[in-house]
Amino acid sequence: MTPATQVVVIGGGQAGLAAGYHLRRAGVEFVILDAQPLPGGAWQHTWDSLRLFSPAAYSSLPGRLMPTQPGELYPDAAHVVGYLTDYEQRYDLPVQRPVHVEGVHRDGTCLRIETDTGAWQADAVISATGTWSRPFLPAVPGRRDYRGEQLHTVDYRSPREFAGKRVIVVGGGNSGAQIAADLADQTDLTWVTQREPRFLPDEIDGRVLFDVATARRRALDEGRVDSGGVASLGDIVAVPPVRAARDAGLLKAEPMFTRLTTTGAEWADGTRSEADAIIWCTGFRPALSPLAPLGLRGHRCHIATDGTRALDEPRVHLLGYGDWTGPASATLIGVGRPAREAARQVADLLS
Ligand code: FAD
Repeated sequence: MTPATQVVVIGGGQAGLAAGYHLRRAGVEFVILDAQPLPGGAWQHTWDSLRLFSPAAYSSLPGRLMPTQPGELYPDAAHVVGYLTDYEQRYDLPVQRPVHVEGVHRDGTCLRIETDTGAWQADAVISATGTWSRPFLPAVPGRRDYRGEQLHTVDYRSPREFAGKRVIVVGGGNSGAQIAADLADQTDLTWVTQREPRFLPDEIDGRVLFDVATARRRALDEGRVDSGGVASLGDIVAVPPVRAARDAGLLKAEPMFTRLTTTGAEWADGTRSEADAIIWCTGFRPALSPLAPLGLRGHRCHIATDGTRALDEPRVHLLGYGDWTGPASATLIGVGRPAREAARQVADLLS
């Protein structure tokens, strides 16, 4: 018999856990299905030196402050995994893993959630699948001809494997800057960005960014003009390793090349640079394929929503992903509020 519950949450990263916390408080019966064998979502797979861009207290999910990491103002990814593991145990969240959700289908008055371990039936779904499983690489002429190693942010672990090599890092966001800084003194590095990289002032970190997101949320709630999201402040948070590499003059960006050759890159003026490896820090797309059978309207890889609720299917909510599901909803501290709102709306729908 197909197991039934009121709500299936797809994804057991931070967004799925925040949804679970608020569904529990709303008195809704639910299960969280997560594709990973272990807790921690994407944080299990990031590079070794990654640091949060906010101190622990500003990186907390609802109900429980992230403890500080001894000796580190900005915690590392392992600390976040520990925190999320503890979080789901502390609140006894019903996470089943590894369970990969393949598709959500309308089935009479219910939704049928097909997984690799069987189907579930539910009255509503909260999709919290993140972006890590959908790395984005731009279409650059010659990319398939290049014979060196090509990686995406998701594949990068540490500078050890590139020591002494000629490496091109592509991308002027936080990942590109942090990975370029990581590699700067051990490789022959070329860092390329589409536009001149914009470093936030050194005193600005995730705390300020979150204040910006809060101000934006208030403006939107009160029907005032959109004050702009986090990105309107600029891009790169000068976390200590980035600041150190930049101040040592090791983080000089070149403009984007126009094509790849078999052995490296070529710029518009004909300049060429040989490379053993290219690391694409070029972002992600939302992992929305489980919702494809519902045929929900959207554009640019998004699904049209009102807050977290899918416009075409009020039984489906989307949590995390980016500002389009709520200001700062793709951050640890920012996901709490949209999670609460999604749980409230789902509870209203069920009653
Ligand atoms: P994820 O952590 O990716 O979790 C999604 C879960 O869903 C995963 O376990 C995945 O396996 C599962 N899943 C996916 N598809 C399916 C499926 N079909 N069936 C079942 N399960 C599925 N935020 C901050 O607050 N502070 C920071 O300092 C910060 N730094 C960042 C640095 C980088 C490099 C990146 C990429 C992001 C950073 N973020 C930061 C943003 C954000 O906090 C993380 O991306 C976070 O991992 C998003 O959490 P999530 O729960 O939405 O997604």
